[in-house]
Amino acid sequence: VFQLSVPLNFLGSVYRELRQSLLDMETLFNLQKVNVSVKDKEGAPPLKLLPPPTGTSRTATGGGEIKFENVSFGYRPDRPILRNLTLTIPAGKKVAIVGPSGCGKSTILRLLFRFYDIQAGRITIDGQDIRDVQLDSLRKAIGVVPQDTPLFNMNVGENIRYGNLEATDEDVRKAARRARVAEIIESWPDQYNTMVGERGMMISGGEKQRLAISRLILKDPPLLFFDEATSALDTHTEQALLQNINSILKDKRRTSVFVAHRLRTIYDSDLIIVLSDGKVAESGTHEQLIDSGGIYSELWSAQETHFVDTEGTED
Ligand code: ATP
Repeated sequence: VFQLSVPLNFLGSVYRELRQSLLDMETLFNLQKVNVSVKDKEGAPPLKLLPPPTGTSRTATGGGEIKFENVSFGYRPDRPILRNLTLTIPAGKKVAIVGPSGCGKSTILRLLFRFYDIQAGRITIDGQDIRDVQLDSLRKAIGVVPQDTPLFNMNVGENIRYGNLEATDEDVRKAARRARVAEIIESWPDQYNTMVGERGMMISGGEKQRLAISRLILKDPPLLFFDEATSALDTHTEQALLQNINSILKDKRRTSVFVAHRLRTIYDSDLIIVLSDGKVAESGTHEQLIDSGGIYSELWSAQETHFVDTEGTED
C-alpha cells in the first residue's frame, strides 16, 4: 500500500505517528512482504517494559527480557524454519545469535517485530505475549541497525530525524556526532541539507550504517538489534561501527541482540546462542563454547584461520 518512494516530507504532523511506524517497518523489510493478517487484538494494551536493570551486577534483573517458548514457524507451512525453538534473551544483556546461513537468524528478528505470526508457541517481552499488545508500541520499543539502511529521497538531516520526528536540529547534529558521521556531513557544501537516497549524494555502506546509528540514538529504544551485513564492510569500518554501538549501549543497560556472521564482532557478548536446524544447538559465553568444542568452536577456528590469511596485518 505504501511506497517508500512517496515524498513523505510534505505530509503534515497528523502523519507523524504513521511515519514513525513506517520507519520502524522499513528498517527491516520491504513493505509488500508484510503479512496483512497481523493486526492488533481489539482493545490490546501497549507493551509495558519494566525499567532496565540498574547497577553493574551481572545478575541484576530488570526490563527487556525476550523469550521464545516452543516457537514453530515457517514462511510456508510445508517448510518449517524454526522448530520448537526455546530461548531466552536476558534483560539488559548483549546477546549474539549465530549459525549457518539460512538457519533463521533474521527470521527471529522479523517474528519479534511481529511481521508474521508464529504457528505454535509464544514470544514474550517482559512476560507479555507480543500478540496481545499494540503492534505500534511493540515496534517502537525495538531499534534496528539493518543489513542495508534504507535512505529516503530527502536531505540527510531529515533522514537522521526519522529516528525521532520530534528531534530538534541540534539533537540531529548531536546524534550525528555520536555516530561519527557528523564530520563527513559537515564537509559537504550543503551539510545537513544535502540530498541523499537514490537521487542524492552517493554515500558508502559504512556511512549509511552510521546514519542508521544516528537514527537509533534519536530513537533511544529499550531493545536493540544489529543485523550484520553478510557482505563485509571492511574490518576497520566495522570495528569502528561496533565501538560506536557499544558506546551507545554503555549508558543504558538495554537488551541488545546481534545477528552475526563474523564471530569476531560478537565474541565478547554476555551470551552467544548458536542456531542450527531451527533449534538452539548450543549457547554460552565464548569461553564456554570454545571449551565445549562444538559447532561454535569449529566456526571460530575456521574464521580465525581465514582472518589471519586475508588480514594478516590486523591488530
Ligand atoms: P543469513 O545468515 O544468510 O542472513 P538467516 O539465518 O538470517 O540467513 P533467514 O533470513 O532467517 O536466515 O531465512 C531463513 C530461511 O527462510 C531461508 O531458507 C530463507 O530462504 C527463508 N526465507 C526468508 N524469508 C522468506 C520469505 N519472505 N518467504 C519465504 N522464505 C523465506
